[in-house]
Amino acid sequence: MPDQTYDAIVVGAGHNGLTTAAYLSLAGLKTLVVERREIVGGACVTEEIAPGVRASTTSYIASMLRPEVIRDLKLGEHGLKMVACEPGLQSVFEDGDVIPWWTEHERTVAEWSRISATDARTFDRIDKRLKHLAAYLQPFFLEEPPDVHARGFDKVKEGIRMLRRFRMIKGDEVTDLASFLTGSLGEFLDRNFESDKIKRMFLANNVYGMHSPPYRPGTSIGLLFHLLSGGSDDVQGFFGHVMGGMGSITNAMADAARGFGAEIRVNAPVQRILVHNGRAYGVALEDGTELRARTVVSNADPKRTFLHLMEKQDVPEEFRLSVEGIKMAGPCAKVNMALFEEPRFTGMPADADPNRRSLATLVPTLEGAERMYDVAKWGEIPEDLWVDCVVASNVDPSLAPEGKHVMTCFVQYVPFELRSGTWEENRELLGRRVVEKVGRYAPNVPGAIEAMKVITPLDLEQTYGLTEGNIFHGDLNIEQLFFMRPVPGWTRYQTPVRGLYLCGAGTHPGGGVTGAPGYNAARRVLKDRKAARKQR
Ligand SMILES: Cc1cc2nc3c(=O)[nH]c(=O)nc-3n(C[C@H](O)[C@H](O)[C@H](O)COP(=O)(O)OP(=O)(O)OC[C@H]3O[C@@H](n4cnc5c(N)ncnc54)[C@H](O)[C@@H]3O)c2cc1C
Repeated sequence: MPDQTYDAIVVGAGHNGLTTAAYLSLAGLKTLVVERREIVGGACVTEEIAPGVRASTTSYIASMLRPEVIRDLKLGEHGLKMVACEPGLQSVFEDGDVIPWWTEHERTVAEWSRISATDARTFDRIDKRLKHLAAYLQPFFLEEPPDVHARGFDKVKEGIRMLRRFRMIKGDEVTDLASFLTGSLGEFLDRNFESDKIKRMFLANNVYGMHSPPYRPGTSIGLLFHLLSGGSDDVQGFFGHVMGGMGSITNAMADAARGFGAEIRVNAPVQRILVHNGRAYGVALEDGTELRARTVVSNADPKRTFLHLMEKQDVPEEFRLSVEGIKMAGPCAKVNMALFEEPRFTGMPADADPNRRSLATLVPTLEGAERMYDVAKWGEIPEDLWVDCVVASNVDPSLAPEGKHVMTCFVQYVPFELRSGTWEENRELLGRRVVEKVGRYAPNVPGAIEAMKVITPLDLEQTYGLTEGNIFHGDLNIEQLFFMRPVPGWTRYQTPVRGLYLCGAGTHPGGGVTGAPGYNAARRVLKDRKAARKQR
């Protein structure tokens, strides 16, 4: 083996890579992070989109960021400040109705009673039931998924761990859990609610980023996923604005990692992960530099890691085929706007405070979403779009010069692969359709645009490094979660290449700005190193 320069090299400075690097450095490992872009953060960044106007260009709301990570890395001391979204979600409808989903349960029950008293009562019951069920899954977030391949004593240990996690579960909860993990969101909503608008409130929260329409089996899992907790106070179903934009999270993580001794290099794209005799021993950068380490941890998604950053002969064939089979096909885009004035959404109450005025989801009906998905599935951009608008400058005025505003628009259900033409040819069309859509709800927006940046699914791949534009490094369907993520048999951050680990959203528990995969991966690396030391 050649000389070791670092104990660990992390490929990619997304929030999970930074989390892993921080924990490894904290444990005393000489750690290097190499990032291909000129900034750290991956899909969790703040970037200037017009002079003095800064946007969370990709991810835009912090929800499940683990309190353990916030605490251990002292992210608050490194400048992280979050303000709870209040309401947590808010939909604006064609008829001028604006419905908030307050974080306080009783307040939402009261608010929704004016739409449908029956649905408000059902919500009262179901929300509590869902929160209870989500609590069973919560501990798995910062644990490795159950090892279904364990043998002998390890199998017994895994059995005991599962038993402990579910020992209090009642029969009804088991059936509920099975139904939420496998059922469709659409059917669940149709069974339980009568009001079209209330159904749309749930839809607005539960399939983002998924390559699935709401009536597809498995989509109701979003109901539980979004009730996992996050934020410094570990609140179930937390939604937060990050002061300074989402990049403040990753800048704080990078500062923390450096403070523990990590080295971070940007503009350092990795061309190859170096392997000798089935063991990773470092990386080669695109500029030819070779860097060596006993442990290599990839924050890049599994497809990018194994199909692009490694020689074919270095990846066992069966494993490579499983990785090739991971479903990606990201269905999202983002349109970020710098505005000369604040968007005025029709129907927004006159006494709405800036926090409330910062959220406006333009969510379709269940049938409308199904139709949009169908159009996108065949490679076309739906004429009518599902757009989630956030005017972050209402809560954080530092994001734009006085009087100006920044609005980010997340778009659900666009194709990664177009049926005809290229994304470059269709960029303007997507931007135009988003502006038209927003203009129907906030008529002052089209005339107030100073600058607009359209991020197509292809940009997500090319600029942000997300294979096929998948915002979660792999679709969050039940087939690709838990002990199936990233691929069956390799769900504990290790890979068939010794010394090579994964730490990104493609691993358990999946995507979103959580820090959980990065935290779990660091623990696995440290555990393995300890075991190896013992053996020696
Ligand atoms: C448009 C959009 C909206 C989203 N909205 C939200 C939201 O509101 N809330 C939320 O919680 N989540 C949201 N997400 C999801 C969330 O941002 C991601 O799932 C999460 O940030 C992934 O983090 P990660 O660290 O695992 O990977 P990434 O952030 O993808 O980081 C991987 C890093 O590896 C780098 N890399 C790749 N290849 C190489 C190489 N060869 N050499 C060196 N470096 C390399 C990349 O440049 C990147 O920096 C959104 C994502 C997108 C794209």
